[in-house]
Amino acid sequence: MTVIAIDGPAGAGKSTVGRAVASELGVGYLDTGAMYRAVTYAVLRRGVDPADLDEAERVGDIARSAQILVDDVDGATHVEVDGVDVTTEIRGRGVTGLVSAVAANSAVRHELVARQRAWVSDRGGAVVEGRDIGSVVFPDADLKLYVTASARVRAERRVAEIGGDIDEVEASIIERDRKDSSRADSPLVEASGATVVDTSGLTIDEVVEQILDLLS
Ligand code: C5P
Repeated sequence: MTVIAIDGPAGAGKSTVGRAVASELGVGYLDTGAMYRAVTYAVLRRGVDPADLDEAERVGDIARSAQILVDDVDGATHVEVDGVDVTTEIRGRGVTGLVSAVAANSAVRHELVARQRAWVSDRGGAVVEGRDIGSVVFPDADLKLYVTASARVRAERRVAEIGGDIDEVEASIIERDRKDSSRADSPLVEASGATVVDTSGLTIDEVVEQILDLLS
């Protein structure tokens, strides 16, 4: 079973690169961030405040009971929660602003890590993207990558994709990275044995080529 782990901060180009590598290798692609976003959506829909630590147990219960489907359809991540298509909703500001709080919940992580391992094992391997894939979910992955870029470059790319004010977008990216890197459970780190790929001055094709070279 081939597993390629791609970790790194928000907006570094992990998804685009991960999808391209998966398609070159003919294996599946799992966006684990979409799973944390799906749980955040389910929590908000039930009117629970994910940032309220007194609600931690309820948030864990919701993660365990929610039916979450994450799959790549036509080169994009398709997401359903309890049978409802939430592909667009999980990328909105509401979910994006609160997903780090949900992802800091250990019960949520425990549940989603098990689902991620099952997803990959059902498909006989995959390119898996997230924050803790090489460090926690698949520490024995065939290849571990830490894909990064400067915060400014990441913000510029995001604005080119979905618009917005560059300084605001950069500030929100920096804040999400800070939360993801400083949480107690499975913080964003360069996994041991990971190859760091800085995509700041590179095109997608150049990054993909670099990664395929590492595999050959
Ligand atoms: O990858 P994306 O930016 O969509 O991830 C959304 C959030 O999900 C991250 O900011 C992080 O809080 C959380 N996450 C995580 N572990 C992963 C993937 C994502 O904690 N493996």
